Amino acid sequence: DIHNVIQNVLLLVDKKADEKHILIEADYDLSQAYIIKADSDRFQQMILNLVSNAIQYTPEQGKITISIQPWKNGKGYKVSVEDTGIGIKTSELPRIFERFYRIDKARSRSSGGTGLGLAIVKHLIEAHHGEIKVSSKEGQGSKFNLFLHIDPQTD
Ligand code: ATP
Ligand code: MG
Repeated sequence: DIHNVIQNVLLLVDKKADEKHILIEADYDLSQAYIIKADSDRFQQMILNLVSNAIQYTPEQGKITISIQPWKNGKGYKVSVEDTGIGIKTSELPRIFERFYRIDKARSRSSGGTGLGLAIVKHLIEAHHGEIKVSSKEGQGSKFNLFLHIDPQTD
């Protein structure tokens, strides 16, 4: 259940988000179940990496919105993690899924990442026969969309 996985991730990042006064909102029907066939630990890893980035690259008082929408005529879901953070230059977008790639290394070194988070997400979503897409505006925010089949074996 996608909703369960999101709840687990929120428990893991709760403290960090609070410290930065970042609000995380779930923008979907909380009373519904969103069942897919997936490796739940690895799916959780994908969501955790995206939400951790959203927190890391969003200044204080920002907002993160997690949404679930139907995809492929009900045969899948689009799960989005959107932030009001620093955003990503269009010219950098093609490279952010590369291993060890970090934008503006000098500035971001203090924030301690290795540049593997998104490469892992891309690897895992492809192993699930899904897709990841990103749209972003520098200075305004980013939106990462995961496209997941309800049953990857039949699609
Ligand atoms: P880690 O391995 O700890 O995740 P990382 O966060 O630097 O390190 P990735 O998660 O792969 O590595 O992200 C790659 C780069 O893409 C980041 O260094 C950052 O420059 C940019 N980036 C990723 N997510 C966002 C986001 N939500 N907003 C702005 N920039 C982002
Ligand atoms: Mg990261």
